[in-house]
Amino acid sequence: MIALLKCFYKSYQINKIHPKNSFSRKVIFGLNKFKKGNFLNFGVSPRSVQRHNKKHTFRGYTAYAAISLLLALLSLTSAPMQTKAINILGIETSCDETAAAVVADGRIVKSSIVASQTKLHEKYGGIVPEIASRAHIEKIYPVITEAMEQAGVNKDNIDAIAVANQPGLTIALIVGVTAAKTLSLAWDKPLIAINHLHAHLQSAMLAKENLKLPAVALVVSGGHTCLYDYHSPLEPKLLGSTIDDAAGEAFDKVANILKLSYPGGPSIEKAAKNGNPNAIKFPRSMLGRDSLDFSFSGIKTAVLYYCRGQDMKGEDKVDSMNEQEIADIAASFQAAVVDVLVKKTQRATKNIGAKTILLGGGVAANSALRDTLQKMCDNAVPPKKLLVAPKQYCTDNAVMVASLGYHKFKAKLFADLTLEPKATGL
Ligand code: ADP
Ligand code: MG
Repeated sequence: MIALLKCFYKSYQINKIHPKNSFSRKVIFGLNKFKKGNFLNFGVSPRSVQRHNKKHTFRGYTAYAAISLLLALLSLTSAPMQTKAINILGIETSCDETAAAVVADGRIVKSSIVASQTKLHEKYGGIVPEIASRAHIEKIYPVITEAMEQAGVNKDNIDAIAVANQPGLTIALIVGVTAAKTLSLAWDKPLIAINHLHAHLQSAMLAKENLKLPAVALVVSGGHTCLYDYHSPLEPKLLGSTIDDAAGEAFDKVANILKLSYPGGPSIEKAAKNGNPNAIKFPRSMLGRDSLDFSFSGIKTAVLYYCRGQDMKGEDKVDSMNEQEIADIAASFQAAVVDVLVKKTQRATKNIGAKTILLGGGVAANSALRDTLQKMCDNAVPPKKLLVAPKQYCTDNAVMVASLGYHKFKAKLFADLTLEPKATGL
């Protein structure tokens, strides 16, 4: 304001002496822009003042000075208030992570708490739904409390509660859904239902610059593998999905066969770093020329037969394999899965003429997949833009739920207290 007044005073002084001085004209032009841009156009400009005061009299500039000052003051008092951020509390319990997060305006992560159950399921080599559900019940309250505390907010600063209600393990989802419904009722806040898979894509949108449409979106997680035609965060259109195992599930099962640690994805990736991806030619199931569906059970069985023999009656060769042999199997398996994922994505990209590709879900943390997809995008004619979820938001989290919740909040897509968890829904 002081700077503005100084400018104004200077221009007034200079104009008194030489109205055509370019500095003063610039300042006046700037003031005029300021005035027009901010709220009202009173139809007063230096020119119009000059026209009415042909001799550039003191009176003319005084009039302009008064109006400019008035406009400046008015713009201060009526300047649009810094619009209040929309804070969404996100809740995620679809599988084996209890997560809560507070995200402002869909992009600013104020807190993200994830209580992983990996240790509980490790010894079973996969997720046991009853154990998952019980652990969610234990963790849901502390996780939400911590997310609120870390974000420095209380219920009054929360605009809505978003919860993943599908797809997933119903007895796991129900914990998050019940918590969200309870808070919605107790705090009198809108409730927003979130599709967990669409939320995974939202993770890729966190780092979004300008999303050029049309876009193809690939979700690769422990329970799902889906390709979408992505026009907006609100309604991705399913193009294809797995007809048997999900990509992440295949990683977990193959890690189990190779006696690598759980969860399988990160340990296969680690082992594969020292392996030869061309050592073993594992099958790549493309399911026909035009198919956008996936199948990963064949490759899992191929690895199993490779290690235990076709009839499964021979010795388990894994026990006698050295590190290099394990690394070669891991690298060859990973290369085959990545190959299929990238080729199908490329197929979908061509089909819809996509300009952008989004990648999300736990398997999106895999560097081989990220790098190969990036190469595909760079080599395409014209090149495509790849948006990948930041690594910390690839596996299940509540940031993606809150972020998508923001878009549904803006679109006023609210749920009510009859909201139920659903195992399906791609
Ligand atoms: P879900 O939503 O089905 O629980 P997530 O999105 O949390 O699945 O992802 C978990 C899956 O991601 C697991 O199957 C895990 O093995 C896989 N995964 C995690 N990191 C990697 C990685 N670096 N490479 C391959 N797969 C990975
Ligand atoms: Mg997931």
